[in-house]
Amino acid sequence: MPRLVIDDAAFRANIAALRNRVDPARLMFVVKDDAYGHGLSWAVTSAVAAGVDWIGAYNVATALRVRESAGATAHVFAWATSSDDEVDQALAADLDLGVGTAEYLHRVIDRARVASVRARVHLKIDSGLHRSGLIPDEWHDAVRTVRAAEAEGHIELVGVWSHLAEASDEEDDAAQTIFLQAVDALEASGVAVEFTHLTASAATWARPELRGNLVRVGAFCYGIRSADGPRLDGITPVATLIAPVIAVNEDTVTIDLGALDGFPSSLGGRIDVATPAGLRPLRAVEGFSSTVDAWPDAHVGDEVRVFGPGRAGERSATTLAEAIGTVGEEILTRLGPRVRREVVCDDTRGDS
Ligand SMILES: *Cc1c(COP(=O)(O)O)cnc(C)c1O
Repeated sequence: MPRLVIDDAAFRANIAALRNRVDPARLMFVVKDDAYGHGLSWAVTSAVAAGVDWIGAYNVATALRVRESAGATAHVFAWATSSDDEVDQALAADLDLGVGTAEYLHRVIDRARVASVRARVHLKIDSGLHRSGLIPDEWHDAVRTVRAAEAEGHIELVGVWSHLAEASDEEDDAAQTIFLQAVDALEASGVAVEFTHLTASAATWARPELRGNLVRVGAFCYGIRSADGPRLDGITPVATLIAPVIAVNEDTVTIDLGALDGFPSSLGGRIDVATPAGLRPLRAVEGFSSTVDAWPDAHVGDEVRVFGPGRAGERSATTLAEAIGTVGEEILTRLGPRVRREVVCDDTRGDS
């Protein structure tokens, strides 16, 4: 069976490198898509042990699972617009809610009123991506609504946030201007804004002037660099995909990993993988298997490293992604359940 080996020590080192780089801003660790395919409960437990106290979960269902693994004190942020049932569950679990429409803002306030609690809200301004968020024309009404609900005790405005396109510096600068105007408008009306968050991995790393006092980082925590992006000092891929040889043929070997495991068939003929004898071309990807150029003395049971941090010369998930015009996250999040997740904790470093 193919397996995805997760290096817990590498993950913690990435977290430490990121926290150090963004200091004094705080790190929100993003765990959508089952922690980018690495496994949610491991990711949350390990991050919290490493000192992370903000976790971004996309939807309420995921955030509730995060709450279970993270314990009561971590801040857990869910930014998908959610049903009333989900909002009720979120309020009961003390989740932070990202709110990007007027309709959702009113619903969250109503549900908080019914439950007699204060909803922890992060208001989203659409700073140009046009995916979601209140548009600047709606902002003043939203500010008024927030003020009234704060006075009634149904909201705590925790933060203001937005998401960047990360396509060009100019666009991101323009987005920041809109973002900061939105923060100013809230503060001018007397609403305190504790947290501002705008950047994901790439801009967090490269554009410190865009960071608010909280950054939302997924990819780089897992050591996934940006496609066509720079090498990242102190950041290492956390996951290694390993597939065993299941047949030795004349010119090729067959490995136990295929398109039905979520391994893109378009990679066939486009990448090298690391065999015990060094790099060999991946020839083709079939349903549950793939073929690789043979090497002398190949055996059934030999292990082929398909991607990883490069210790045996293997390429990274992002290098694979670049060969087919996608991003490293995509290579990881597509891997199916037949790929067993195996966490390796290196206990030899401490004196435990
Ligand atoms: C996925 C996501 C992030 C994290 O993005 P990375 O590039 O993986 O760091 C941050 N914010 C939002 C809203 C996201 O959807």
